[in-house]
Amino acid sequence: MLHKIVTRLRSCLGMVALLLGSNCGSPPAGCPDCSDDLRLPSILPEEVPFRMLQVKWNALNGAPSIDDPSLLCEENFGEVLLNRHLRAGLCNWTQCKILLGPVIGSTATFGLFDDPDLSIGVAGDVVVNNTALTPEIEELAILSDNHWNAQPTGVTGLAVRSFVNADGTDSPINGIAFANSGTRPFFFIGDLEFFPSALGEVHRNTERVLAHELGHVLGLCHANGDDGVACNSGFVDFNDFGNLMSGIGSSASSRTLEVAQCDIARTRYADLFFPVADAQRRIVSLLDERGERFATADKSLDLYKTMVFNRLSEAGELTVLIGTNGLFTERKNDYWLLLNLDNNLQTGLHGGRIVPGSDQQGVDLALQVEVSDSGERSKTTLYTAESSGFRPQSLVPGLLSTTLVTSELYTSSAEACQRVPVFQEIEIRLSRELLANGGTAEEVARLFPNGLSLQTIAVGTAANGEVILDKCPERPRAIRLQ
Ligand SMILES: [Zn+2]
Repeated sequence: MLHKIVTRLRSCLGMVALLLGSNCGSPPAGCPDCSDDLRLPSILPEEVPFRMLQVKWNALNGAPSIDDPSLLCEENFGEVLLNRHLRAGLCNWTQCKILLGPVIGSTATFGLFDDPDLSIGVAGDVVVNNTALTPEIEELAILSDNHWNAQPTGVTGLAVRSFVNADGTDSPINGIAFANSGTRPFFFIGDLEFFPSALGEVHRNTERVLAHELGHVLGLCHANGDDGVACNSGFVDFNDFGNLMSGIGSSASSRTLEVAQCDIARTRYADLFFPVADAQRRIVSLLDERGERFATADKSLDLYKTMVFNRLSEAGELTVLIGTNGLFTERKNDYWLLLNLDNNLQTGLHGGRIVPGSDQQGVDLALQVEVSDSGERSKTTLYTAESSGFRPQSLVPGLLSTTLVTSELYTSSAEACQRVPVFQEIEIRLSRELLANGGTAEEVARLFPNGLSLQTIAVGTAANGEVILDKCPERPRAIRLQ
């Protein structure tokens, strides 16, 4: 394994999370809570695409939620961490059209470390200094970065027990972030549900503090003139204590962002976002929808995004993820994937011959996934373009698979923790055999010399009977596999 030698971590000094309070009610001890405001709307123009930031998590043994995930109603520490950042994203960062996504792939194992320095505090505690990088933070940042060496995008996060001063006393710091250092940007966050720090009970909302720290790793400064903290993106001084990036003086509702902040967060460290053009062979493309199209009454049928993963060389398949605007309805919707495999408009058929509304030329393969009964039922049909028109093919097991995936969040009330489905998507796996009639690994590397062109289309009926059609991307787009 490659080990980066990090000679020096230059500090963009510690960003102290000083977010006060939570407007999410009073969660029972230990249960994560942000159920009342799952998603803030985008403040960016419609044509601005979503970007995805992956949080490459690690954790220290000794933090209560890591040692016993059931305290937070989770089954393992990975779910504790994943759900924290999913909530932080949905509750705050959708304003900037930034999705805090999961990590993907065979190297996507969260790191779990023993505390390297037990001389101060107890296991899981990290020594901080508000004006300088401590040796323990530097060591842990390098450990975290090395653990995710095989996945160069995203930021690293480290879940710790709590922060202590060099003399062993409790620190008021809840989270700390370094945007400009020898490693990729990283943040550490305490187990705030259990150790809300000397500043008290109001600092208990881990998700909000986490969202604030992510602002720092994306290059944002404190928004309200807290010049005790260094940052490198210029000062955004509008003295708004409602802002997510407010420092001292934050209020219970400090979670909004400004367009100027979104511009910095989306562009300052553009190479953190996933995927980076040409950097990851396995990822063909992330196709962003340039607008949402859904029935306003029930938000049915919007294609949120389409992601394509090129796993032909390692797993022998192309994976396409079709996102939705939320959850499937009880009504039947059709999700189509139209593929122009040779990226040649002269071969294949016009997509309009199989999906009314399609304007894609040269379609060689069409896949229809009918979803009904709120995702309880689905049916997949494969069509190939032939001279007489699109013809359904009998499916050979193993060549094509369709899975409906549901993401859930835990929320809590005075009574209990609850598992709430918030997002569903369709995962389609197309095998190499299906796409190219087999082939060796070497042959696969030469597949699709012209790239391929694709578009997904959703067609369905809203609650009021209105027929809705949505495409992602809006125009069929050619993508390269390498
Ligand atoms: Zn801060």
